Amino acid sequence: MMHLSVAVLGGGIVGSCTALSLQERGFHVTLFAPRIEREMTSYGNAGVITHASVIPLNIPGVLSRLPRYLLNRDPSLRIAPAALPGITPWLWRFMRGCEPASVGRRAAALNALITPALAAHRHLAGPAGASALFHERGWTRLYRQPGALERIAGERALWKSNGVRFDLLEGEMLETVFEGASKHYTLGVRIPDTAHVDSPGALVERYRALFVARGGEWRCDTPKGIEPGARGYRVAGHERHFDQVAVCAGPWSMELVRPLGYRLPMAFERGYHQEFSLVNGQTLLAPFYDVDGAFVCSPMNDGVRILTGIEFDRRDRTATPHQLARILPRVRDVLALGQARGEPWLGRRPSMPDGLPVIGAASKHPGLWFGFGHGHIGLSTSAVTGQWLAEAMAGKDSNPAMAAFSPCRFG
Ligand SMILES: Cc1cc2nc3c(=O)[nH]c(=O)nc-3n(C[C@H](O)[C@H](O)[C@H](O)COP(=O)(O)OP(=O)(O)OC[C@H]3O[C@@H](n4cnc5c(N)ncnc54)[C@H](O)[C@@H]3O)c2cc1C
Repeated sequence: MMHLSVAVLGGGIVGSCTALSLQERGFHVTLFAPRIEREMTSYGNAGVITHASVIPLNIPGVLSRLPRYLLNRDPSLRIAPAALPGITPWLWRFMRGCEPASVGRRAAALNALITPALAAHRHLAGPAGASALFHERGWTRLYRQPGALERIAGERALWKSNGVRFDLLEGEMLETVFEGASKHYTLGVRIPDTAHVDSPGALVERYRALFVARGGEWRCDTPKGIEPGARGYRVAGHERHFDQVAVCAGPWSMELVRPLGYRLPMAFERGYHQEFSLVNGQTLLAPFYDVDGAFVCSPMNDGVRILTGIEFDRRDRTATPHQLARILPRVRDVLALGQARGEPWLGRRPSMPDGLPVIGAASKHPGLWFGFGHGHIGLSTSAVTGQWLAEAMAGKDSNPAMAAFSPCRFG
């Protein structure tokens, strides 16, 4: 193939994987990205890559919980009052997607993106020297309230129809999640086809180092715009022209594409984490999600990372870790947490109302490509996103699985 030049804007997990995949296909790639910092969403996530993520968040049961959410009675979701007017159109679209036919279609689309996710990461992680960051030990959703098996009938049906394997854990079997779990939970659903990354920030660092080691050009910059012209594209502040541009700037992507006429409905589902050591000899080998307790716990950096659900607020408003304060007593019910390590972390999941990322060609600018909006599953699906984008940018026959993720679906 001709050695086309590509600028990738954004060096979180999605931009890093995309840059590597483009490089593998012979493109000359320049990555525009700041240093790897806590600010990026890819730094502070739960590290979970699971086949169970084929189910989008907006499913029928969500509607019945809406009043609790709107009144901030449920710690899994908080809406900052000042943010409600701005977020209402997005929430309306999100709620409209709860009807079963839409859920089934989107789950099938996500299945195509998630099934190859771990293999795609392994392909990059080996040469990046990052294989040891991945652990294939499954993950478990845990339920405190009785009657959970019936309550999750819809999820079980979706998992089955998409080939997601799961095992039910009750009684003593719950002790396999962590010692003492059977005292607190009535049911566990273990998803064996899951890996977790024990330091998501380190993974981005290794991928970026591989990109540079393979001859990729990294510009430590966050350009303010993209300028189309007769000879391709320039990025603001730089003289060079590029044949193609891939926008992978996560929650900051809209600043780059809106001036070119693309109005895509992205919301920022903010989430927090705090890390702790475990004490009293307690250990945790694999992540779990305490559904009724509204937190995720992941073994991370030789301790555990506790993560909250969703906070709808303006992207750049200062951190308001109310949800952390609400969940930590519930975490302490079940785990022997030692001292908190460091400050709470705030991240912004860049989320589209249908729960699918935006992957594909921009409709009005040949050579401009989008890879953003990965919401809750950006770590998982980043490597496949990179592969799909690179194949499409190299002009390979269109991949039918990509159609569901097209930017054009929003009109
Ligand atoms: C609490 C929490 C838990 C999560 N848990 C999981 C999980 O277990 N599994 C999972 O799969 N996903 C999880 N996610 C989601 C996942 O973290 C995100 O979907 C993913 O990190 C998004 O990656 P990204 O590369 O698109 O964005 P980012 O990581 O935010 O990277 C975007 C980068 O672009 C840079 N940038 C901004 N503007 C510009 C510009 N103009 N030019 C160039 N660069 C620019 C930014 O500085 C940033 O470095 C979680 C998210 C949160 C908040």
